[in-house]
This record gives sequence, C-alpha cells and structure tokens, in this order.
Amino acid sequence: MIEPGATIGIIGGGQLGRMTALAAANLGYKTHIFTPEKDAPASQVATHTTIAEYTDAEALEAFAAKVDVITFEFENVPHESLEMIEKKRKVCPSASVLKICRNRLREKTFINELGIRTAFFKSVTSLSDLKLAAMAVRFPAVLKTAELGYDGKGQVTLKTGSDLRTIWETMQTHEAILESFVEFSREISVIVARGAHGQTRCYPAVQNIHKNHILDTTIVPAPIDKALAEEAEAIAVKIATVINLKGVLAVEMFVDDEGRLLVNELAPRPHNSGHWTIDASATSQFEQLVRAICDLPLGDTTRRCDAEMKNLIGDDVKNWKKFLTDKNARLHLYGKSEIRAGRKMGHVTFLKSAK
Ligand code: AMP
Repeated sequence: MIEPGATIGIIGGGQLGRMTALAAANLGYKTHIFTPEKDAPASQVATHTTIAEYTDAEALEAFAAKVDVITFEFENVPHESLEMIEKKRKVCPSASVLKICRNRLREKTFINELGIRTAFFKSVTSLSDLKLAAMAVRFPAVLKTAELGYDGKGQVTLKTGSDLRTIWETMQTHEAILESFVEFSREISVIVARGAHGQTRCYPAVQNIHKNHILDTTIVPAPIDKALAEEAEAIAVKIATVINLKGVLAVEMFVDDEGRLLVNELAPRPHNSGHWTIDASATSQFEQLVRAICDLPLGDTTRRCDAEMKNLIGDDVKNWKKFLTDKNARLHLYGKSEIRAGRKMGHVTFLKSAK
C-alpha cells in the first residue's frame, strides 16, 4: 500500500490531471506533474512539476526517481516512454494497457477477441487498402487515424461519391481504421475502477451527447433499461479484468438501432463522462484512481442523486457567473487562461433530485 504522504506522479498536465491532483491532496498525497506545457491546469494545483517533452528519457527517469507511483491522464504519451520508466517505478495502468488503448486497431481487435461487439472495421495503410476496405465496410463509414485522434480530430465520414484519394492524402497518416457508421440510438459510457487484488467497482452507465464530435452533455444515469445497463457494466468489468487494469477505465459504447451494445473506445484514465462523480457520487472517479493505484480499498460508487454534466467549451466559459446563483449547479473551471474554440475550459454539474 502506498500511504498518504507519498507522491503520485502524473504524466500529463490537463484538467484530468488537475482534478486527480485535487483528489490526491484531499487524501493527503503529494503530486508531481510531468508535462511539456508551462502553467498547465494540473501544475497550478500540484506539489511539483517537471516541464519536459514526453520523449525526454533523462527527464522521465529523474521524475520516476522522485515519485512513489506513476499514472497518466491522457493516452498520447508514447507507450515506449512508459515502458522505460516502468523499469524504475510502478506505472498504473501499465504500459501494456496504454499500448492497447492508444491504437484504435489494436483496441478493437482486442475487444472482438473477448467476444464483445464493435463496429465492423478494416485496417488501412494505403490508398489501395482504403479502396478495398471501403468495399468490405460499405458506406457510410468512418475513417479514423489509428493513433493520436481525439474529439473528432483525425476523423472523416465517407459517403457514396467521396473522393477517397483526396481524403487519404489529407489524412496524412500511415495507419488508419475504416469503420462502418453505426446508426446508434444513443451513446453511453461506463467507468470501471480496478484496484488491489482485482477488486472492481463500476459507476452507473451514463448517456453522452456530443456536439461537433466533442462531448457536450452527460446524463446520469443513462435512460436505458436495467438489463442493458448491467450488460454495459459487465462488458467494462470483463475488459478491465482481462487487461489486468490497475486504475480507472472508461468504456464508450453505442446502443445501436436494435438495442445492442457496441464498444467504440477505451480510455484507461479518468474520463470526461465521469466528471459528475465529483459532485453526485459517494467517491469521485479521481479519488477512485488514487485509491486504485495506491492499493487503498475502492470507494463506494453509489450515486447520491441524478445529475447532468455540461462541458464549458470555448466561449461557453464566459457565462461562468450565472452558475454561481443556481443552487443545484456545481461549477469547475480548469484555470486555462486562453479561450479557444473547441477547448474544454470547465464544466458544470447540475444536481437533480433522485427519482
Ligand atoms: P471517437 O473519437 O471514436 O470517440 O469518436 C467521436 C464521436 O464520433 C463518437 O462519440 C460518435 O459520436 C462519433 N462516431 C465515431 N465512430 C463512429 C461510428 N463508427 N459510427 C457512428 N458514429 C461514430
């Protein structure tokens, strides 16, 4: 067990790192952020920061020597960097978990091997591959870079008549995935935590509504029937167990037009669709991460009340004052000085009375 007073190293300096650092501080831990960014949201609330590139081996080794356990708050860390520091210090989740989750082809292949559905997909590494894949997958389809895409970046929907050559050349990637377009009735996600001795705890399934490919609203709980919610939780627990997760994992799923679940994406870290847990759950996803990686007992995941989380994206944040006078609103701002279109600046959770 890593006891309070120890230092948790967090790779990544964004809002997820910030909220993890705040939760760690509540339990008496110190935090050390590793980020290339100056004045990162997480650094503003952490004990220490190392500013260096994610590929800077010397800086990573020095960081590993100063902390008691390491976690990461986003997937775009090269897994080779994690593999290297894993030799010096425990990394949770492990580099092997990150390796699966940061590449959409590896991720979906792994999920299908567990007997869990995803959209039908094909690997694409060239224009001729894309033409063949398009015949197998059929239109409409979604072409995504295998790595480094987020919030709809590196993604394009293909329709009959799409100019495949231009699309492939514009994508500028060596590896992509072509997926069938899922006619979903809703998108849901489940966050599962797995800690010492393989103990698991799930948060209730929630519904996610995206705007311009970015999460806009999370509805807690998802308005789906109990059996489907339980199936979604069972999928999340199965994945977390098989990959030997230590930490938290978000599993994003589609409910298709026949009411079946298809896994879209895995994120082995706290997730935007779990921000409501800070204000409406007995234990937040961030505290749960700290508990899991420090071998503390996992916390209760019962929701205290229904809730709705709204992201404050770009200029939305200018309305922050109005939430202060709403007694059911809980405002969280991330300390980002520059407002940019599409940038997550904060979120607000509206508490609703339990049904
Ligand atoms: P992703 O980056 O894979 O999480 O995709 C971002 C969003 O794009 C998802 O939350 C969906 O709203 C949409 N999307 C992604 N893949 C598909 C698909 N195969 N079919 C339909 N919509 C998709």
